[in-house]
Amino acid sequence: TGTGPLLDATGIRVAYGDLVAVWEVSLRLHAGSITALVGRNGAGKTTLINGLCGLLPVKAGTVLLDGRDVTALPAWSRVALGLTVVQEGKRVFRELTVRDNLVLGLRGGGVKRADREDELARLYERFPILGECRRQRAADLSGGQQQMLAIATALATKPRVLLVDEPSSGLAPVFVDLVFEALSALRDEGLAILLVEQLVDEVLGGIAEEVIVLERGRVALRDRAANLAVEDVAASIYSSL
Ligand code: ATP
Repeated sequence: TGTGPLLDATGIRVAYGDLVAVWEVSLRLHAGSITALVGRNGAGKTTLINGLCGLLPVKAGTVLLDGRDVTALPAWSRVALGLTVVQEGKRVFRELTVRDNLVLGLRGGGVKRADREDELARLYERFPILGECRRQRAADLSGGQQQMLAIATALATKPRVLLVDEPSSGLAPVFVDLVFEALSALRDEGLAILLVEQLVDEVLGGIAEEVIVLERGRVALRDRAANLAVEDVAASIYSSL
């Protein structure tokens, strides 16, 4: 705890059998900061995120969460320690109500039963859309509402580090704005956020402080967003085509 990075990953390698998809990638995430992870399809962004959060085992490297080595821990115990992922594709429990999805998040984060209603009220306040449909099945929500629910469920676990995989994918522009507003607010509250995002304009136009371009499983470019031009990032992403 202190001024060091909240998440400090060094030399992360992730493979599917013999196919190495992420080669010795290192990155640090700081409190109150959004780092964007960009790169073309197949560059290894999702694989890296899954290695960081424990959904995939790493073949090499170390993941430190606030100084503590969590590399060998399963995903659920990383969640309990404050490292939570919002997976690609608006993953929610479709047959459960909005409220019950959120309760699962609260339980995953170790929130006490006695605090449950207060925490739910806070989540509904932050996401009024979810408050309005708290009794509906997640399956009956729109795609944008489901993505808000996925983010809210992750928040319910009380993370300090949030990994978010392509939250804007397939959403109407109004929901893309809502998602980015929500992530900016969380950053302002001190979360360290890693955001996989295809919308390079949005990433450089304000939401991210730092940008990492991944190419064939390696870091091709890394800089503060303010130092990068959209054309440079786009060129770096598409040069490998
Ligand atoms: P996208 O934007 O399409 O999600 P990405 O940058 O997230 O792309 P990954 O999905 O991490 O890229 O894929 C990285 C590499 O790993 C690709 O070559 C992909 O084909 C391969 N890969 C991904 N998932 C698997 C899997 N389950 N089994 C085998 N190979 C996989």
